[in-house]
Amino acid sequence: MTGIVGVVSHDALPPDPFAGDPNDPALSIDEPAVADQDVLSAGERDEVVADLADLAVYQALLEGRGVRGIVVDCGDCGEQHFHEWSLLRASLQQLLEEGQMRPHEPAFDPDPASYVTWEYCRGYADAVLSDS
Ligand SMILES: [Zn+2]
Repeated sequence: MTGIVGVVSHDALPPDPFAGDPNDPALSIDEPAVADQDVLSAGERDEVVADLADLAVYQALLEGRGVRGIVVDCGDCGEQHFHEWSLLRASLQQLLEEGQMRPHEPAFDPDPASYVTWEYCRGYADAVLSDS
């Protein structure tokens, strides 16, 4: 069994003309390519962190009442997406760590009655928390 690394032997590559050169242009190409792409700004990170905190509150309040997750009106495809609590948390954490969410994963035969909107959660939490 030979993986990609085993197939492309280092010796088969042409010699690097900049080897040992501190001004090697490859050095300056590599770094921004990683930093530039799919990284959240500080403000975006704060929003995701706040959403994760809200999500934990909403789940704690609503899961026991039979709510299975959040329904989102998707701006990309115009359809509703159903996210179970755990899946939504995983998506947000992935967004935090990798700067992007995984592609749409349709829920398996969701029952729309078991899902509520983010706005509903917010209103519900406000009402419950101000009630006490
Ligand atoms: Zn969509």
